[in-house]
Amino acid sequence: MLRYLSTNGTVACPRNEPRLNDCGVTVDSFDLPALRALDAAHHLHPFCDNAALAKRGTRILTRGEGVYVWDQDGNKLLDAFAGLWCVNIGYGRKELGRAAAEQMERLCYYNSFFQCTTEPTVKLSAKLAELAPGDLNYAFFTNSGSEANDTILRLVRHFWAVQGKPEKNIFIGRHNGYHGSTVAGASLGGMQGMHKQGGLPIPNIHHINSPYWFGEGGDMDPDEFGRERARELERKILELGPERVAAFIGEPIQGAAGVFIPPKTYWPEINRICKQYDVLLIPDEVICGFGRTGEWFAVEHEKVTPDLICLGKALTGGFPLSACVGSAELMDRAWPASTGEAIHTSTFLGHPVGCAMALANISELDRRALVKRSREVGEELMAQLRSLRSRSCVMPVRGRGLMVGLELNLPDGKPATAQCLGLIKRLLHRGFIFLPEGEHANVLAFTPPLIVTTAQLGAAVRAVQEELEATP
Ligand code: PMP
Repeated sequence: MLRYLSTNGTVACPRNEPRLNDCGVTVDSFDLPALRALDAAHHLHPFCDNAALAKRGTRILTRGEGVYVWDQDGNKLLDAFAGLWCVNIGYGRKELGRAAAEQMERLCYYNSFFQCTTEPTVKLSAKLAELAPGDLNYAFFTNSGSEANDTILRLVRHFWAVQGKPEKNIFIGRHNGYHGSTVAGASLGGMQGMHKQGGLPIPNIHHINSPYWFGEGGDMDPDEFGRERARELERKILELGPERVAAFIGEPIQGAAGVFIPPKTYWPEINRICKQYDVLLIPDEVICGFGRTGEWFAVEHEKVTPDLICLGKALTGGFPLSACVGSAELMDRAWPASTGEAIHTSTFLGHPVGCAMALANISELDRRALVKRSREVGEELMAQLRSLRSRSCVMPVRGRGLMVGLELNLPDGKPATAQCLGLIKRLLHRGFIFLPEGEHANVLAFTPPLIVTTAQLGAAVRAVQEELEATP
């Protein structure tokens, strides 16, 4: 039942005459108070104090163009977060709209069950085989990063069972890792807050520490620290028994944890350990993939041979589609000829519209050389950020490509959470969307669309500097 009705008893959300702002942009073709009241009454927001939000009123985004989005009041906001790391080619891309519309008209949906599929689905699997590192050339599609990781959990456990090792079913992830919010995704992740609700993690998932040298390295040389943190995996495997450990999963760069760039020794050592103990290696590329770090996939910066990767977010440029990609050999070993079917699916997997959009999105990333651009612009951004000064905070900078974090700490090393949240609030008033990252919400993440210009980034960095100067 609707909880919000207008005085005459009809649903209150009338459409007013469109009002144009100075740029001729439609700013309120809806009744904002009514829409906010409906939102407060009927829409549960994730990661949010819903009661407080109901009082304050939701921000309603109305359109996007390039690196900017517009809100309900016509404010133009530079989105330093690319949505949620999704919109690498920017907002308002006609190519994506055309691809989606054409596919919708031609064939709006067909499933990939019952020995069927659609043309864009096949073409996208071939494209991913071409782009993915090493011998990864076989895709299973899903609808979100979380589902891709749920799929990986089932796939890997099934794989080992078929090899005659059903007891090899333990996954090792990392504290503060993020792999989604479904039962398996949140369990594989190491966010304690997420484990609190719903009885997680599920059994047979263990976590080790992250290679967070910036915060936990102390006096240790980064290379030594990287090796030491990787060897936690070896110790954990030996403690549990290599015959019981199925896989290690980790983000090449931990995004939600606060942009943790691992020391260069970390992943090669992880790779060695996984190979030595016959543990599958699974980099989660949901954030890092599709150019974010200056390569198509972040594992390409490292000397590793992954067994599976999971993809999502910027795969389509803003539409729900994800995938896990393994080698044909691994899939053949999991489902040897005529011994069984992959008993796992979802109605919308490999959706033709999403796949058509992903193909258009990848072609744009390619045509505009955005992967290389991410690397180059990211270097410039980090140089600019390193010159920032604050009277009250110490601000280590780290990043790779356009995945950059500015951490705010107090001089005694404690996280400057209040300062970071205050800064983000003031930046929003100045037209910049930043989100706080990290366990203590003290990392300002710079992860804009890869089309961002140095001038646009310069404006954002200047605004950060001015706000830092304006506050004690
Ligand atoms: N893996 C990583 C590394 C992520 O950052 C996320 C989401 N931020 C996910 C998986 C889950 O993706 P989704 O929210 O699409 O389920």
